[in-house]
Amino acid sequence: MISQNFIQDLLNRVDIIDVVGRYVQLKKGGANFMGLCPFHNEKSPSFTVSPTKQFYHCFGCGAHGTAISFLMEFSGMGFVEAVKDLAQNVGMTVPEQEDRLPPAQRAEVQAKSLALSDAMTQATQFYRQQLRGARHAIDYLKGRGLTGEVAAKYAIGYAPEGWDSLRSVFPDYDDDALVEAGLVIDKGDEQGSTRKRYDRFRDRIMFPIRNTKGQVIGFGGRVLGSGEPKYLNSPETLLFQKGSELYGLFEARQAIRDQGYVLVTEGYMDVVALSQFGFEQAVATLGTACTPVHVQKLLRHTDQVIFSFDGDTAGRRAARRALDACLQHATDNRTLKFLFLPTEHDPDSYIRAYGNEAFERMVHESTPLSQFLIAQLTEDKDLTTAEGRAKAQYEAKPMLQAMPPSALRLQLLRQLAQITDSTVQELESLFELARPVTTGRLMKAPPASVRRRPPVELERKVLRIVLAHPEFAADLDEDALQAIGQGAPDHGEMLRAVVQAARGVTGGAGFATLAEMLRDQGGELARLIAEVAADTPSEPELARRELAGAVRQTTMKILRAEQDRLAAAGLPDAAMRDRYRELSATLERLRAEAERDLAN
Ligand SMILES: [Zn+2]
Repeated sequence: MISQNFIQDLLNRVDIIDVVGRYVQLKKGGANFMGLCPFHNEKSPSFTVSPTKQFYHCFGCGAHGTAISFLMEFSGMGFVEAVKDLAQNVGMTVPEQEDRLPPAQRAEVQAKSLALSDAMTQATQFYRQQLRGARHAIDYLKGRGLTGEVAAKYAIGYAPEGWDSLRSVFPDYDDDALVEAGLVIDKGDEQGSTRKRYDRFRDRIMFPIRNTKGQVIGFGGRVLGSGEPKYLNSPETLLFQKGSELYGLFEARQAIRDQGYVLVTEGYMDVVALSQFGFEQAVATLGTACTPVHVQKLLRHTDQVIFSFDGDTAGRRAARRALDACLQHATDNRTLKFLFLPTEHDPDSYIRAYGNEAFERMVHESTPLSQFLIAQLTEDKDLTTAEGRAKAQYEAKPMLQAMPPSALRLQLLRQLAQITDSTVQELESLFELARPVTTGRLMKAPPASVRRRPPVELERKVLRIVLAHPEFAADLDEDALQAIGQGAPDHGEMLRAVVQAARGVTGGAGFATLAEMLRDQGGELARLIAEVAADTPSEPELARRELAGAVRQTTMKILRAEQDRLAAAGLPDAAMRDRYRELSATLERLRAEAERDLAN
């Protein structure tokens, strides 16, 4: 969770012209900069970037947003990643905030993770020390060709056979932290009277799983001999989430940097064996399919990720899941490849049989994402029939939609158009790609009808002025908010939210900041932001007067309605007649004010 203040400072510091200019050739045209839209195919520029609004807007496809949204859309980064990237470019550091928890609760969570982390460290030391005396475990590792050096690098250990060996490490064997760390298992007695507690890992080779800071957050345990399951992982805990952690990443960091790529394998033994043979840039998923979070994490370390899979059917299936996890991250500056080993091999056995050099050759000849994707789409289809071609297109749609707009996506479209007997334009419209693909949650393109703008109602006008000039939010007092709220309950509530957000906004990038703060709101507000993005920036003094005028008009409309109701009732009593006169006087005053304003 990044604070609104930080976003505001960032947007005030960053210049959107620089950010967009890194990827799109921009030319100055009037107050704005223009270029060819990176989010749809076009020949003449309809993509504008406004330095005053710190916002981009495409008149062709409706894409729009701030410097942050641009990075998210263009390079497929997540929100936090985009913010970090921008911050780095202007020398700011994103404050590391745990979460939105209140301080007391956060302290509690921190204390708990510290206790868990401490338990994991002690267990790691215990298992390592146990390995020294475990003949059959050492024999097993030696049999797999591992030296003590590599075992030490990965802190490999051994969990002994007994049911409660950890009792010797943790005198308080009943400590809750041991269950929460996944080191022991509680089993309630049938009568529920006593519980039985025992070690989760027994008679297993232990592979500690470290986070990127090097702390042990979980274990993978491999059985010795023929027990089941062959591999047993720590359960998910406060420290350990399988869908986002990778085995060996901590140990591989330097090699990944040196070699310029990372190899993702399917098991701990692959990682350790490859390292033994001098191939140190390998990591493994933890018994789960590869997720987009995994891919994103790896892409923080390198632009080139290669996935290796066993040549069997299960390997093919896993490869397909990895492909799906990759698509949203497939930008032009990254290389994502797939290595398929011969059916009888995994990386461990292959490098053992043929050596490091042969393995590296295999890695370098691996299949590019584009080729694998096309192969997946055409597999088992008769492309000589219309049905076969249509099926391929049908399956391609979600995949192409998941990809960020890029030269690679265009290349794939070309190839797909060719093999399915269509044109790129046909596919783009079939896949609904002409629209920006994933324009954020808020930044949805407005429907075509909004672009030819209907006459602006007063409430909308007020909202648009406050959005474009957050500094005027201070001009709207409670009376004004109530007047607008009465006339238009929905807009009134929206206005309140916008005004409240706007009151905290300072600095030159007011509109962009506000748009980011309201990112999670949907629907009508998103449409309004799109409208402001498309507007020519208004002169602040003029806008301020317009705002005052709009508030006045809204107030007058409400007062007039009240007057009409009183008149319709026939003004039966003195109180009503007084109120009617009072309303007339106020209306008269407001009318005079409006005239004075017009004369100025
Ligand atoms: Zn566009």
